[in-house]
Amino acid sequence: MYPRDGLKYWWSGKGLWDHVSDQDWNNWVWQLQNRITRLEQIETYLQLTPEEKEGCLFANKKLALAITPYFFNLIDRQDPECPIRKQVMPRSEEMRKTAGEVLDPVGEDEHSPVPGIVHRYPDRALFLVTDRCASYCRYCTRSRMVSNAQDYNFHPAFDKGLQYLAEHQEIRDVLISGGDPLLLSDAKIDHLLGKLREIPHIEFIRIGTRIPIFLPQRITEKLQEILVKHGPIWMSLHANHPRECTIELKEACDKLAFAGVPLGNQSVLLKGVNDDAETMRSLVHRLLMMRVRPYYLYQCDLINGSSHLRTDPRKGLEIIKELRGHTSGYAVPQFVIDAPGGGGKVPINPEYVENITESELTLRNFQGRIYRYPLDKPAESLPNEDFEGAFEEILA
Ligand SMILES: *Cc1c(COP(=O)(O)O)cnc(C)c1O
Repeated sequence: MYPRDGLKYWWSGKGLWDHVSDQDWNNWVWQLQNRITRLEQIETYLQLTPEEKEGCLFANKKLALAITPYFFNLIDRQDPECPIRKQVMPRSEEMRKTAGEVLDPVGEDEHSPVPGIVHRYPDRALFLVTDRCASYCRYCTRSRMVSNAQDYNFHPAFDKGLQYLAEHQEIRDVLISGGDPLLLSDAKIDHLLGKLREIPHIEFIRIGTRIPIFLPQRITEKLQEILVKHGPIWMSLHANHPRECTIELKEACDKLAFAGVPLGNQSVLLKGVNDDAETMRSLVHRLLMMRVRPYYLYQCDLINGSSHLRTDPRKGLEIIKELRGHTSGYAVPQFVIDAPGGGGKVPINPEYVENITESELTLRNFQGRIYRYPLDKPAESLPNEDFEGAFEEILA
């Protein structure tokens, strides 16, 4: 049985930055200005392993190192295996390219008609509006372009993107991502959402962001107002581990929910971070308590230098199997692989259909028991004892 840990949320608090005023600490711009970006800075707080040290030195050539003070506090500084640390601390393995790994693992560039737009599916488009994030995830699918470490020269072209969306009437759903769109100023977000709302065929707008997890201070009243004004705006968060479910995140989610924003979560299956059912169960339960519906669980993309964080997809299937039926259906994300080379997201599921014949479906339930559902039985009237006498009773 799942041991209920009783602890609903952690309070992160100022931790290492206890000397800082509440006003500064709660100011998202202060958090950004005081990000941990250098090896020497980290070493004043914790002892790096040789692999991490090397990774930090290499980071600015690949994907910048940046960790907000808020998120840094969530790291267990005594534990090199800390699941929070693994997500944001560079390692020497990032320099190693393994079989199948590429720069653009899900083939976004070839589906990009104008810079910043990825139009892969018929009715929806991805709109990349910035190449910056509050902190950088070491397994980022868009490592090639975010943080501007690789001279990729990504310049999000707002106006060209908007023009493309306006000219393509088949697009009814726009997913604003990046980088992290919530790093844009309030004025820019307001402008962008306003422009999208002016396009009559766009019915559905969502924002993909990890800001509530890295920088919950960004979810301000002003941002709430903007989200209300242009609502309904949907949001996909990116939490990977229960430790990220702090009181600060809960409060940010409250604010978003009260601004009418339906919340989903996309996790990436990561080795040593969340690749066991116990951790994932704890995460999805905590998310539900914060009104966040687990949406996708991604198999980690084949991005250059990520083999140390990737897990066998069979592990993901096993995790889903341990969730489905054993806990709230709302808590179970869809496990997907974004097909290498540009095929898009492909759902992968544990097998519950044991067999299909002309006459029946054989089903296996969450406990492994077998059930049968008849197919194509000719309609044949049988005596129905359940209602015997009922008709006469009603008429009497
Ligand atoms: C993930 C993604 C979407 C949205 O897919 P949904 O399954 O609708 O969430 C749209 N465009 C691209 C390019 C994507 O990668």
